Amino acid sequence: MAEQARAPQAEQPGKRPILPIFKLEPKPHLVGIKCSGCGAVFLDVKRLACSKCGAAGPFHNVPLSTKGKVWVFSVIHQSFPGIKTPYITAIIDLPEGVSVKSNLVDVDPLELQKNPQKAFGMPVELVASVVAKDRQGNEVVAFQFRPSAN
Ligand SMILES: [Zn+2]
Repeated sequence: MAEQARAPQAEQPGKRPILPIFKLEPKPHLVGIKCSGCGAVFLDVKRLACSKCGAAGPFHNVPLSTKGKVWVFSVIHQSFPGIKTPYITAIIDLPEGVSVKSNLVDVDPLELQKNPQKAFGMPVELVASVVAKDRQGNEVVAFQFRPSAN
């Protein structure tokens, strides 16, 4: 009988972040890269040059704050089949000087639409939730933001 190559040990199903800028350990947070020349932070995994000072790096990974403020939002009433509407999409400013687009949860979309001034500058914090399961049985974890005390 011919010797067969051994299949690599199957990895235990676990949690997988939905984007490379999203890390789950030690607790869910976003990562950016920081220009060593001028300190500008970008919400990227990789970058060829700094758009602030023009330096070609080097760039270093930096963990980003899990708290930020709503800069602008929109209530989405129509989406892909299977996506529950209405929901709120927002651009969140983080203290490191980067912005991230994300859904805003734990807020009534129609209520916020009636009182939009409540949203601008609203303090929010990152929350993680399982949104799907991939073919290998891993839980796919996405991030959203919800109102926070400060
Ligand atoms: Zn720079």
